[in-house]
Amino acid sequence: MQSPAARSPRPAARTAARGRGGQVLLFLLAAVLALLAAVLWLVDLHVAIRGKDRAQNAGDAAALESARWQGASLNAIGELNLLRVLALAAGDAEAADTLREAALRTSFLGPLAGAAAAQTAAKLDGAPDNDGFTAFVRERARVARGGYGFRFADGTAMPEPWPGAWGEYAAALDAIADGGVAAGFDNAAFFGDPAGSHVLLDQGFYAAVLGRSWCWFRRAAPTLLDDYAGWSSWPPLPPPDDAPPASSEILSLRLRLEDLTGADLAAMPGLPAAFGEAGLPDPFAAGFPDGAAATNAAPGFLLYDPSRWGPWEAMKDPSFPVEGELRPEYDYAGADAALRVELPVPRLSDPAAEPGALVWTGAAKPFGKLAGEDGADLPPTAVPLVLPVFPQVRLVPLDAVWMPSGGAFDLAWRRHCVEHLPRYLERGPAALAAGCRHCRALERWEDAAFRRAGSRWLSTNSWKCTVAPPGGGPGGGSRHAH
Ligand SMILES: [Zn+2]
Repeated sequence: MQSPAARSPRPAARTAARGRGGQVLLFLLAAVLALLAAVLWLVDLHVAIRGKDRAQNAGDAAALESARWQGASLNAIGELNLLRVLALAAGDAEAADTLREAALRTSFLGPLAGAAAAQTAAKLDGAPDNDGFTAFVRERARVARGGYGFRFADGTAMPEPWPGAWGEYAAALDAIADGGVAAGFDNAAFFGDPAGSHVLLDQGFYAAVLGRSWCWFRRAAPTLLDDYAGWSSWPPLPPPDDAPPASSEILSLRLRLEDLTGADLAAMPGLPAAFGEAGLPDPFAAGFPDGAAATNAAPGFLLYDPSRWGPWEAMKDPSFPVEGELRPEYDYAGADAALRVELPVPRLSDPAAEPGALVWTGAAKPFGKLAGEDGADLPPTAVPLVLPVFPQVRLVPLDAVWMPSGGAFDLAWRRHCVEHLPRYLERGPAALAAGCRHCRALERWEDAAFRRAGSRWLSTNSWKCTVAPPGGGPGGGSRHAH
Protein backbone atom coordinates (compact mmCIF):
# COMPACT_ATOMS: atom_id res chain seq x y z
CA MET A 1 0.00 0.00 0.00
CA GLN A 2 1.36 3.41 -0.95
CA SER A 3 1.69 6.02 1.76
CA PRO A 4 0.49 9.55 0.98
CA ALA A 5 4.04 10.90 1.34
CA ALA A 6 5.18 8.61 -1.44
CA ARG A 7 2.85 10.26 -3.95
CA SER A 8 4.43 12.39 -6.63
CA PRO A 9 4.25 16.14 -5.86
CA ARG A 10 2.61 17.00 -9.21
CA PRO A 11 -0.87 15.74 -8.46
CA ALA A 12 -0.70 17.46 -5.05
CA ALA A 13 0.10 20.79 -6.72
CA ARG A 14 -2.69 20.24 -9.19
CA THR A 15 -5.04 19.54 -6.33
CA ALA A 16 -3.96 22.75 -4.60
CA ALA A 17 -4.44 24.71 -7.80
CA ARG A 18 -7.82 23.13 -8.27
CA GLY A 19 -8.61 24.04 -4.68
CA ARG A 20 -7.72 27.67 -5.28
CA GLY A 21 -9.69 27.66 -8.52
CA GLY A 22 -12.62 26.16 -6.61
CA GLN A 23 -12.41 28.94 -4.03
CA VAL A 24 -12.46 31.57 -6.75
CA LEU A 25 -15.41 29.85 -8.34
CA LEU A 26 -17.20 29.71 -5.03
CA PHE A 27 -16.44 33.36 -4.46
CA LEU A 28 -17.71 34.27 -7.91
CA LEU A 29 -20.76 32.13 -7.41
CA ALA A 30 -21.50 33.85 -4.12
CA ALA A 31 -21.07 37.24 -5.79
CA VAL A 32 -23.32 36.24 -8.67
CA LEU A 33 -25.91 34.90 -6.26
CA ALA A 34 -25.83 38.13 -4.27
CA LEU A 35 -26.21 40.09 -7.48
CA LEU A 36 -29.03 37.81 -8.58
CA ALA A 37 -30.76 38.26 -5.25
CA ALA A 38 -30.49 42.03 -5.64
CA VAL A 39 -31.85 41.85 -9.18
CA LEU A 40 -34.69 39.58 -8.10
CA TRP A 41 -35.46 41.93 -5.24
CA LEU A 42 -35.64 44.76 -7.75
CA VAL A 43 -37.89 42.60 -9.92
CA ASP A 44 -40.08 41.99 -6.87
CA LEU A 45 -40.17 45.73 -6.31
CA HIS A 46 -41.00 46.34 -9.93
CA VAL A 47 -43.72 43.69 -9.91
CA ALA A 48 -45.06 45.23 -6.73
CA ILE A 49 -45.13 48.73 -8.20
CA ARG A 50 -46.76 47.58 -11.43
CA GLY A 51 -49.13 45.38 -9.45
CA LYS A 52 -50.10 48.32 -7.26
CA ASP A 53 -51.23 50.22 -10.37
CA ARG A 54 -53.04 47.17 -11.63
CA ALA A 55 -54.82 46.61 -8.30
CA GLN A 56 -55.83 50.26 -8.14
CA ASN A 57 -57.15 50.28 -11.70
CA ALA A 58 -59.15 47.12 -11.11
CA GLY A 59 -60.56 48.26 -7.76
CA ASP A 60 -61.51 51.70 -9.04
CA ALA A 61 -63.10 50.29 -12.20
CA ALA A 62 -65.17 47.85 -10.14
CA ALA A 63 -66.28 50.61 -7.75
CA LEU A 64 -67.29 52.94 -10.61
CA GLU A 65 -69.24 50.17 -12.33
CA SER A 66 -71.05 49.32 -9.10
CA ALA A 67 -71.90 52.95 -8.37
CA ARG A 68 -73.18 53.34 -11.93
CA TRP A 69 -75.64 50.52 -11.29
CA GLN A 70 -76.57 51.99 -7.95
CA GLY A 71 -77.40 55.27 -9.72
CA ALA A 72 -79.32 53.47 -12.49
CA SER A 73 -81.28 51.49 -9.88
CA LEU A 74 -82.12 54.65 -7.95
CA ASN A 75 -83.30 56.29 -11.19
CA ALA A 76 -85.48 53.30 -12.06
CA ILE A 77 -86.96 53.29 -8.54
CA GLY A 78 -87.56 57.04 -8.91
CA GLU A 79 -89.51 56.49 -12.15
CA LEU A 80 -91.51 53.68 -10.55
CA ASN A 81 -92.29 55.89 -7.54
CA LEU A 82 -93.68 58.62 -9.84
CA LEU A 83 -95.74 56.10 -11.82
CA ARG A 84 -97.07 54.64 -8.58
CA VAL A 85 -98.24 58.07 -7.42
CA LEU A 86 -100.03 58.45 -10.78
CA ALA A 87 -101.62 54.99 -10.41
CA LEU A 88 -102.82 55.84 -6.91
CA ALA A 89 -104.13 59.20 -8.11
CA ALA A 90 -106.10 57.34 -10.78
CA GLY A 91 -107.41 54.93 -8.14
CA ASP A 92 -105.75 51.94 -9.84
CA ALA A 93 -104.70 49.87 -6.84
CA GLU A 94 -103.63 46.88 -8.90
CA ALA A 95 -101.22 48.92 -11.00
CA ALA A 96 -99.92 50.59 -7.85
CA ASP A 97 -99.21 47.15 -6.38
CA THR A 98 -97.36 45.99 -9.46
CA LEU A 99 -95.26 49.16 -9.46
CA ARG A 100 -94.43 48.72 -5.79
CA GLU A 101 -93.13 45.22 -6.42
CA ALA A 102 -91.14 46.41 -9.44
CA ALA A 103 -89.49 49.11 -7.31
CA LEU A 104 -88.58 46.57 -4.63
CA ARG A 105 -87.19 44.13 -7.17
CA THR A 106 -85.04 46.94 -8.56
CA SER A 107 -83.84 47.83 -5.07
CA PHE A 108 -82.71 44.25 -4.38
CA LEU A 109 -81.68 42.94 -7.79
CA GLY A 110 -80.40 46.16 -9.45
CA PRO A 111 -77.39 46.38 -7.10
CA LEU A 112 -76.66 42.70 -7.74
CA ALA A 113 -76.56 43.40 -11.48
CA GLY A 114 -73.97 46.04 -10.55
CA ALA A 115 -72.14 43.47 -8.43
CA ALA A 116 -71.91 41.18 -11.45
CA ALA A 117 -70.82 44.01 -13.76
CA ALA A 118 -68.12 45.00 -11.26
CA GLN A 119 -66.56 41.54 -11.60
CA THR A 120 -66.23 41.96 -15.37
CA ALA A 121 -64.68 45.40 -14.86
CA ALA A 122 -62.18 44.13 -12.29
CA LYS A 123 -61.19 41.14 -14.41
CA LEU A 124 -60.67 43.29 -17.50
CA ASP A 125 -58.09 45.15 -15.42
CA GLY A 126 -56.35 41.92 -14.49
CA ALA A 127 -57.81 41.12 -11.06
CA PRO A 128 -57.98 37.34 -10.49
CA ASP A 129 -60.90 35.47 -8.97
CA ASN A 130 -60.62 35.41 -5.21
CA ASP A 131 -61.68 32.13 -3.61
CA GLY A 132 -62.47 33.77 -0.29
CA PHE A 133 -64.73 36.40 -1.88
CA THR A 134 -66.46 33.77 -4.01
CA ALA A 135 -67.05 31.47 -1.03
CA PHE A 136 -68.51 34.35 0.90
CA VAL A 137 -71.01 35.32 -1.81
CA ARG A 138 -71.97 31.64 -2.00
CA GLU A 139 -72.49 31.65 1.75
CA ARG A 140 -74.78 34.70 1.58
CA ALA A 141 -76.79 32.92 -1.12
CA ARG A 142 -77.20 29.95 1.22
CA VAL A 143 -78.32 32.20 4.08
CA ALA A 144 -80.78 34.04 1.78
CA ARG A 145 -82.23 30.77 0.53
CA GLY A 146 -82.84 29.78 4.15
CA GLY A 147 -84.83 32.97 4.69
CA TYR A 148 -82.15 34.54 6.95
CA GLY A 149 -82.97 32.16 9.80
CA PHE A 150 -83.28 34.65 12.60
CA ARG A 151 -86.05 36.41 14.47
CA PHE A 152 -86.53 40.07 15.19
CA ALA A 153 -86.90 41.14 18.80
CA ASP A 154 -90.69 40.74 18.51
CA GLY A 155 -90.31 37.12 17.35
CA THR A 156 -91.22 37.67 13.72
CA ALA A 157 -89.10 36.21 10.91
CA MET A 158 -87.62 38.46 8.26
CA PRO A 159 -90.37 39.28 5.77
CA GLU A 160 -89.92 38.65 2.06
CA PRO A 161 -90.06 41.94 0.15
CA TRP A 162 -92.18 40.19 -2.52
CA PRO A 163 -93.39 36.60 -2.79
CA GLY A 164 -90.45 34.31 -3.60
CA ALA A 165 -87.95 37.15 -3.16
CA TRP A 166 -85.32 35.29 -1.14
CA GLY A 167 -85.13 32.47 -3.70
CA GLU A 168 -84.65 34.95 -6.56
CA TYR A 169 -82.12 36.95 -4.58
CA ALA A 170 -80.17 33.78 -3.67
CA ALA A 171 -80.16 32.67 -7.33
CA ALA A 172 -78.68 36.04 -8.34
CA LEU A 173 -75.95 35.70 -5.69
CA ASP A 174 -75.17 32.17 -6.83
CA ALA A 175 -74.88 33.38 -10.43
CA ILE A 176 -72.29 35.95 -9.30
CA ALA A 177 -70.37 33.28 -7.37
CA ASP A 178 -70.53 30.92 -10.39
CA GLY A 179 -68.70 33.52 -12.48
CA GLY A 180 -65.99 33.93 -9.82
CA VAL A 181 -65.71 36.97 -7.58
CA ALA A 182 -62.63 39.14 -8.21
CA ALA A 183 -63.86 42.31 -6.47
CA GLY A 184 -65.18 41.88 -2.92
CA PHE A 185 -67.95 44.07 -1.53
CA ASP A 186 -66.16 45.83 1.27
CA ASN A 187 -69.06 47.92 2.54
CA ALA A 188 -71.82 45.35 2.36
CA ALA A 189 -74.28 45.49 5.27
CA PHE A 190 -75.87 42.19 6.15
CA PHE A 191 -79.45 41.58 7.14
CA GLY A 192 -79.67 40.35 10.68
CA ASP A 193 -76.39 41.86 11.83
CA PRO A 194 -76.64 43.40 15.29
CA ALA A 195 -77.94 46.95 15.21
CA GLY A 196 -76.32 48.14 18.43
CA SER A 197 -72.83 48.18 19.86
CA HIS A 198 -71.13 45.67 22.17
CA VAL A 199 -67.55 45.42 23.37
CA LEU A 200 -67.27 41.94 21.82
CA LEU A 201 -68.29 43.38 18.43
CA ASP A 202 -65.51 45.95 18.59
CA GLN A 203 -62.32 44.86 16.85
CA GLY A 204 -60.47 47.36 19.06
CA PHE A 205 -61.13 45.14 22.08
CA TYR A 206 -59.36 42.14 20.53
CA ALA A 207 -56.47 44.25 19.29
CA ALA A 208 -56.11 45.74 22.77
CA VAL A 209 -56.04 42.30 24.42
CA LEU A 210 -53.59 40.77 21.95
CA GLY A 211 -51.35 43.83 21.99
CA ARG A 212 -51.75 44.57 25.73
CA SER A 213 -52.83 48.06 24.72
CA TRP A 214 -54.24 48.96 28.12
CA CYS A 215 -54.95 52.53 27.08
CA TRP A 216 -57.73 51.21 24.84
CA PHE A 217 -59.57 50.04 27.98
CA ARG A 218 -59.17 53.37 29.69
CA ARG A 219 -60.69 55.09 26.66
CA ALA A 220 -63.36 52.64 25.47
CA ALA A 221 -64.28 50.47 28.46
CA PRO A 222 -62.86 52.10 31.60
CA THR A 223 -64.40 49.72 34.16
CA LEU A 224 -64.16 46.45 32.26
CA LEU A 225 -60.73 45.29 33.50
CA ASP A 226 -61.74 45.68 37.15
CA ASP A 227 -65.40 44.73 37.00
CA TYR A 228 -65.42 41.76 34.63
CA ALA A 229 -67.11 38.84 36.41
CA GLY A 230 -66.65 35.98 33.95
CA TRP A 231 -68.03 35.08 30.55
CA SER A 232 -71.60 34.67 31.79
CA SER A 233 -71.63 38.33 32.83
CA TRP A 234 -71.35 39.65 29.27
CA PRO A 235 -74.55 41.41 28.16
CA PRO A 236 -76.30 39.64 25.26
CA LEU A 237 -75.38 40.64 21.73
CA PRO A 238 -77.63 43.44 20.45
CA PRO A 239 -80.64 42.29 18.40
CA PRO A 240 -80.79 42.88 14.65
CA ASP A 241 -82.22 46.11 13.29
CA ASP A 242 -85.98 45.56 13.21
CA ALA A 243 -86.72 47.56 10.08
CA PRO A 244 -87.60 45.17 7.23
CA PRO A 245 -84.85 45.29 4.61
CA ALA A 246 -85.65 47.45 1.58
CA SER A 247 -82.51 46.98 -0.53
CA SER A 248 -79.76 44.50 -1.31
CA GLU A 249 -77.17 43.50 1.32
CA ILE A 250 -74.45 44.05 -1.26
CA LEU A 251 -74.15 47.57 -2.75
CA SER A 252 -77.23 48.58 -0.77
CA LEU A 253 -79.14 51.66 -1.89
CA ARG A 254 -79.89 52.30 1.81
CA LEU A 255 -83.60 52.87 1.34
CA ARG A 256 -86.59 52.18 3.54
CA LEU A 257 -90.21 51.35 2.90
CA GLU A 258 -92.84 53.74 4.14
CA ASP A 259 -96.59 54.09 3.88
CA LEU A 260 -97.62 57.40 2.41
CA THR A 261 -101.15 58.65 1.89
CA GLY A 262 -102.19 60.92 -0.91
CA ALA A 263 -102.15 63.78 1.59
CA ASP A 264 -98.55 62.92 2.59
CA LEU A 265 -97.52 62.94 -1.05
CA ALA A 266 -99.30 66.18 -1.87
CA ALA A 267 -97.62 67.84 1.10
CA MET A 268 -94.13 66.73 0.07
CA PRO A 269 -92.38 69.91 -1.12
CA GLY A 270 -90.76 69.58 -4.51
CA LEU A 271 -92.64 66.41 -5.48
CA PRO A 272 -95.24 68.03 -7.82
CA ALA A 273 -92.45 69.69 -9.79
CA ALA A 274 -90.76 66.29 -10.33
CA PHE A 275 -93.64 65.11 -12.54
CA GLY A 276 -93.21 67.97 -14.98
CA GLU A 277 -89.46 67.36 -15.12
CA ALA A 278 -90.00 63.67 -15.87
CA GLY A 279 -92.50 64.57 -18.64
CA LEU A 280 -95.41 63.12 -16.67
CA PRO A 281 -98.82 64.66 -15.95
CA ASP A 282 -99.26 66.38 -12.58
CA PRO A 283 -101.34 64.06 -10.37
CA PHE A 284 -101.96 66.84 -7.87
CA ALA A 285 -103.46 69.33 -10.36
CA ALA A 286 -107.00 67.91 -10.17
CA GLY A 287 -106.79 67.10 -6.46
CA PHE A 288 -105.48 63.78 -5.13
CA PRO A 289 -108.00 61.12 -3.97
CA ASP A 290 -108.39 60.94 -0.20
CA GLY A 291 -106.00 58.97 1.99
CA ALA A 292 -108.14 55.83 2.05
CA ALA A 293 -108.11 55.50 -1.72
CA ALA A 294 -104.41 56.21 -1.90
CA THR A 295 -103.45 53.46 0.55
CA ASN A 296 -105.82 50.89 -0.86
CA ALA A 297 -102.94 49.06 -2.51
CA ALA A 298 -100.19 47.30 -0.51
CA PRO A 299 -98.41 50.12 1.28
CA GLY A 300 -94.89 51.05 0.71
CA PHE A 301 -92.94 53.69 -1.14
CA LEU A 302 -89.15 53.57 -1.31
CA LEU A 303 -87.63 56.54 0.49
CA TYR A 304 -84.06 57.51 1.39
CA ASP A 305 -83.20 56.08 4.80
CA PRO A 306 -82.43 59.29 6.74
CA SER A 307 -80.00 57.44 9.03
CA ARG A 308 -77.81 56.71 5.97
CA TRP A 309 -78.58 59.58 3.59
CA GLY A 310 -77.82 62.35 6.09
CA PRO A 311 -75.16 65.03 5.59
CA TRP A 312 -71.84 63.68 4.40
CA GLU A 313 -70.03 64.13 7.72
CA ALA A 314 -66.89 62.21 6.72
CA MET A 315 -66.14 64.89 4.14
CA LYS A 316 -66.16 67.62 6.81
CA ASP A 317 -63.43 66.15 8.98
CA PRO A 318 -60.88 69.00 9.07
CA SER A 319 -58.03 66.49 8.81
CA PHE A 320 -59.51 65.03 5.65
CA PRO A 321 -57.53 65.79 2.49
CA VAL A 322 -60.28 67.15 0.27
CA GLU A 323 -59.69 69.60 -2.51
CA GLY A 324 -62.15 72.45 -2.78
CA GLU A 325 -65.40 72.81 -0.94
CA LEU A 326 -68.22 70.29 -0.81
CA ARG A 327 -71.12 71.98 -2.58
CA PRO A 328 -74.37 71.90 -0.60
CA GLU A 329 -76.26 70.02 -3.32
CA TYR A 330 -73.76 67.14 -3.04
CA ASP A 331 -73.71 67.08 0.74
CA TYR A 332 -75.32 63.72 1.39
CA ALA A 333 -73.97 60.26 2.25
CA GLY A 334 -76.26 57.40 1.18
CA ALA A 335 -75.60 54.80 -1.48
CA ASP A 336 -71.92 54.17 -2.12
CA ALA A 337 -69.69 51.32 -3.22
CA ALA A 338 -66.35 50.06 -1.88
CA LEU A 339 -64.86 47.23 -3.95
CA ARG A 340 -61.72 45.40 -2.92
CA VAL A 341 -59.33 43.51 -5.18
CA GLU A 342 -56.33 41.46 -4.08
CA LEU A 343 -53.51 40.63 -6.45
CA PRO A 344 -51.18 37.85 -5.31
CA VAL A 345 -47.52 38.81 -5.68
CA PRO A 346 -45.07 35.88 -5.86
CA ARG A 347 -41.74 36.67 -4.23
CA LEU A 348 -39.25 35.80 -6.96
CA SER A 349 -36.32 36.45 -4.63
CA ASP A 350 -37.63 33.78 -2.25
CA PRO A 351 -39.93 31.31 -3.99
CA ALA A 352 -40.48 29.44 -0.72
CA ALA A 353 -42.01 32.52 0.95
CA GLU A 354 -45.76 32.98 1.14
CA PRO A 355 -46.89 35.08 -1.80
CA GLY A 356 -47.78 38.60 -0.76
CA ALA A 357 -50.94 40.38 -1.85
CA LEU A 358 -51.52 43.85 -3.18
CA VAL A 359 -54.84 45.09 -1.91
CA TRP A 360 -56.81 48.05 -3.17
CA THR A 361 -60.30 49.14 -2.28
CA GLY A 362 -61.83 51.54 -4.77
CA ALA A 363 -64.76 53.70 -3.64
CA ALA A 364 -67.37 55.47 -5.72
CA LYS A 365 -70.80 57.00 -5.32
CA PRO A 366 -73.70 58.01 -7.57
CA PHE A 367 -74.46 61.74 -7.57
CA GLY A 368 -77.45 63.82 -8.52
CA LYS A 369 -79.23 66.98 -7.49
CA LEU A 370 -82.65 68.61 -7.55
CA ALA A 371 -83.47 71.96 -9.06
CA GLY A 372 -84.77 74.23 -6.29
CA GLU A 373 -87.52 76.78 -6.87
CA ASP A 374 -85.24 79.81 -6.76
CA GLY A 375 -82.70 78.31 -9.14
CA ALA A 376 -80.42 77.03 -6.36
CA ASP A 377 -79.51 73.35 -6.57
CA LEU A 378 -80.64 71.06 -3.77
CA PRO A 379 -79.49 67.58 -2.67
CA PRO A 380 -81.76 64.73 -3.92
CA THR A 381 -82.81 64.08 -0.33
CA ALA A 382 -84.68 67.43 -0.29
CA VAL A 383 -87.60 65.26 -1.48
CA PRO A 384 -87.72 62.16 0.80
CA LEU A 385 -89.18 60.00 -1.98
CA VAL A 386 -86.53 58.54 -4.32
CA LEU A 387 -86.69 60.39 -7.67
CA PRO A 388 -84.83 59.79 -10.96
CA VAL A 389 -82.09 62.39 -10.44
CA PHE A 390 -78.78 60.47 -10.46
CA PRO A 391 -76.97 61.04 -13.75
CA GLN A 392 -73.37 60.94 -12.44
CA VAL A 393 -70.92 58.69 -10.71
CA ARG A 394 -67.56 59.60 -9.23
CA LEU A 395 -64.69 58.04 -7.34
CA VAL A 396 -64.64 59.22 -3.72
CA PRO A 397 -62.08 58.79 -0.92
CA LEU A 398 -62.42 55.41 0.75
CA ASP A 399 -62.74 57.00 4.18
CA ALA A 400 -65.79 58.94 2.97
CA VAL A 401 -67.92 55.88 2.28
CA TRP A 402 -69.97 54.12 4.90
CA MET A 403 -68.32 50.98 6.28
CA PRO A 404 -69.65 48.37 8.67
CA SER A 405 -67.45 47.77 11.68
CA GLY A 406 -64.43 45.77 10.62
CA GLY A 407 -65.35 45.62 6.95
CA ALA A 408 -67.71 43.07 5.50
CA PHE A 409 -65.03 41.04 3.79
CA ASP A 410 -62.87 40.49 6.82
CA LEU A 411 -63.97 36.88 6.61
CA ALA A 412 -62.29 35.69 9.80
CA TRP A 413 -63.86 38.55 11.75
CA ARG A 414 -67.34 37.89 10.43
CA ARG A 415 -67.03 34.19 11.21
CA HIS A 416 -66.01 35.11 14.73
CA CYS A 417 -68.99 37.45 15.21
CA VAL A 418 -71.60 35.21 13.61
CA GLU A 419 -70.43 31.75 14.72
CA HIS A 420 -67.99 31.92 17.62
CA LEU A 421 -69.45 34.72 19.74
CA PRO A 422 -72.94 33.26 20.21
CA ARG A 423 -71.36 29.92 21.23
CA TYR A 424 -68.98 31.63 23.65
CA LEU A 425 -71.79 33.65 25.25
CA GLU A 426 -73.79 30.48 25.71
CA ARG A 427 -71.14 28.00 26.83
CA GLY A 428 -68.08 30.00 27.80
CA PRO A 429 -64.42 29.70 26.79
CA ALA A 430 -64.70 25.94 26.14
CA ALA A 431 -66.69 26.81 23.02
CA LEU A 432 -64.01 29.12 21.55
CA ALA A 433 -62.69 28.13 18.14
CA ALA A 434 -59.13 26.94 17.65
CA GLY A 435 -57.29 28.87 14.94
CA CYS A 436 -59.35 32.05 15.39
CA ARG A 437 -57.27 35.06 16.40
CA HIS A 438 -60.21 36.74 18.11
CA CYS A 439 -61.02 33.60 20.08
CA ARG A 440 -57.38 33.47 21.17
CA ALA A 441 -57.80 37.00 22.48
CA LEU A 442 -60.88 35.92 24.45
CA GLU A 443 -58.95 33.02 25.97
CA ARG A 444 -56.32 35.44 27.17
CA TRP A 445 -58.99 37.83 28.39
CA GLU A 446 -60.48 35.09 30.58
CA ASP A 447 -57.21 34.88 32.51
CA ALA A 448 -57.68 36.94 35.68
CA ALA A 449 -53.93 37.52 35.99
CA PHE A 450 -53.94 39.10 32.55
CA ARG A 451 -56.68 41.55 33.52
CA ARG A 452 -54.96 42.34 36.82
CA ALA A 453 -51.77 43.17 34.92
CA GLY A 454 -53.77 45.68 32.88
CA SER A 455 -55.37 47.25 35.93
CA ARG A 456 -52.00 47.55 37.64
CA TRP A 457 -50.41 49.15 34.59
CA LEU A 458 -53.23 51.66 34.25
CA SER A 459 -53.18 52.54 37.94
CA THR A 460 -49.72 54.06 37.53
CA ASN A 461 -49.40 54.77 33.82
CA SER A 462 -52.75 56.10 32.67
CA TRP A 463 -51.21 59.56 32.18
CA LYS A 464 -49.47 58.01 29.16
CA CYS A 465 -52.85 57.38 27.54
CA THR A 466 -53.72 60.94 26.55
CA VAL A 467 -52.99 60.52 22.86
CA ALA A 468 -55.52 58.37 21.02
CA PRO A 469 -53.84 55.76 18.83
CA PRO A 470 -54.49 55.96 15.09
CA GLY A 471 -57.38 54.04 13.58
CA GLY A 472 -60.66 53.06 15.17
CA GLY A 473 -62.55 56.12 14.01
CA PRO A 474 -66.23 56.80 14.53
CA GLY A 475 -68.42 53.73 14.23
CA GLY A 476 -65.74 51.47 15.69
CA GLY A 477 -64.76 50.19 12.27
CA SER A 478 -61.09 50.08 11.51
CA ARG A 479 -60.50 51.70 8.17
CA HIS A 480 -57.97 49.96 6.03
CA ALA A 481 -55.46 52.18 4.35
CA HIS A 482 -54.73 51.88 0.68
ZN1 LIG B 1 -63.48 33.35 16.99
